[in-house]
Amino acid sequence: MSVRKSTPKSIETAVLANSARRCALCFHLTGDLSEKHGQIAHLDKDPSNSEEDNLAFLCLSHHSVFDSKTSQHKNYTKEEVKSARSRLYSLVENGGYLTSVQPSSADTDRKILADLLDLLPSNGTMEFIRTFDFGGSFRKADLEEARIFIESRGGVCGQLLLCPWSIKIDH
Ligand SMILES: [Zn+2]
Repeated sequence: MSVRKSTPKSIETAVLANSARRCALCFHLTGDLSEKHGQIAHLDKDPSNSEEDNLAFLCLSHHSVFDSKTSQHKNYTKEEVKSARSRLYSLVENGGYLTSVQPSSADTDRKILADLLDLLPSNGTMEFIRTFDFGGSFRKADLEEARIFIESRGGVCGQLLLCPWSIKIDH
């Protein structure tokens, strides 16, 4: 066992930020995108190799299994964790990890609607949403602000009860 050298702060910070403390294996195996108590794992099992590519944030139980030397079962592989990690990082980068961990889609809808009402000025799109009864079709341009908002949230359109795109649009 080689002596554990501490990971440089900047690399540690990059790993924590890129993963947003989501465990790459929890995400990969069960789609679990909640924050975890975890540790930074050395994927090649060499604690002195602190290259960022050799590091991944894993929850305590996955880290423990990953580091175990058991031959009783096929352990998680370095490549498997790296593949999971890269998909997790893109989700964190585009904000998709936040919309996936809400307790229910109805709660998500309420939260997003509240944020939407907070963020947008009470004219333009919001005035349109308030006054239009959604009974028929309407011009897409009237919803431009809402579209920009939804895209800025990582494209949660499908979960939004009030999603303008789930109803008829006159293109
Ligand atoms: Zn995990």
